[in-house]
Amino acid sequence: MALVPFDDRDGQIWWDGDLIPWRDARLHVLSHGLHYASAVFEGERSYNGNIFKLREHTERLVESGRILGFEIPFGMDAIDAACRQVLAVNGLTDGYIRPLAWRGAEQLSVSAQQTRIHLMIAAWSWPNLFGDDRMKGVRLGMADWKRPHPETAPTRSKAAGLYMIGTMSKHAAEARGFNDALMLDWRGQVSEATGANIFFVMDGALHTPIPDCFLDGITRRTVIALARKCGLQVVERVIMPDEMQQADEVFLAGSAAEITPVREIDGLQFTPGPITEMLLTDYEALVRMPPAEVAARLAA
Ligand code: PMP
Repeated sequence: MALVPFDDRDGQIWWDGDLIPWRDARLHVLSHGLHYASAVFEGERSYNGNIFKLREHTERLVESGRILGFEIPFGMDAIDAACRQVLAVNGLTDGYIRPLAWRGAEQLSVSAQQTRIHLMIAAWSWPNLFGDDRMKGVRLGMADWKRPHPETAPTRSKAAGLYMIGTMSKHAAEARGFNDALMLDWRGQVSEATGANIFFVMDGALHTPIPDCFLDGITRRTVIALARKCGLQVVERVIMPDEMQQADEVFLAGSAAEITPVREIDGLQFTPGPITEMLLTDYEALVRMPPAEVAARLAA
């Protein structure tokens, strides 16, 4: 499939309160966010015109900025409304929404107290990469890079800088023929893929690592709630890499990845099975419900 460059598309992008033509959404090269990764972002999906768990994404965006020491100069209601507006003006009902906040070009040094904080929101069509083949599962290669200690990096923020090791790890995995990388953390414990959380089905229960140095994904929390609703036991615990061979099923969970079964982790084979399929079907149904019904479905 031909690659359509992201800076040469039709459509409109919301930038600091205004909608502007997609191709005009250009940034100065001396922006602080580009040089020092003073940027935070979100990745959201809409289904049937509703952005799934929009407020949770907006809250995380604002909190991500605060962790990096800045305040996004728009309220959450305004950010939510802008996300919906961008989707609508681009004629999308099912799409991916990408808000990004960053420090501007007023000052270019490590200290950046005088920079303005900017916010842009773009949306585009991004169907699930695996479509009907999804149940076949993806192949993960182990990454050499580790998720850092929470005192080493702002691991609770969806900060652009944290994706540096994600891109390096994913490229290395792709070079070895895998779809994505599975990362360990600084202690050698299983953590997550480069853009999604991971779950293991072991002895009929759902096991997943404790998110103490990586994102506690909105999809992760949704999957845990859905699983408990179905009467599945969910165990958040330390998972060491040598335990992965005991898993009957493995899958990834993230806003972009949705529920993606895993069929291999660096030589260990898995068969996507009934628990993954049930949760995938439940998730697909949930995201298409009107927001009020989503809340009711997940309520204890
Ligand atoms: N971990 C990383 C590194 C991610 O980029 C994402 C996607 N935002 C996730 C986990 C899953 O988070 P969510 O379910 O909130 O999209």
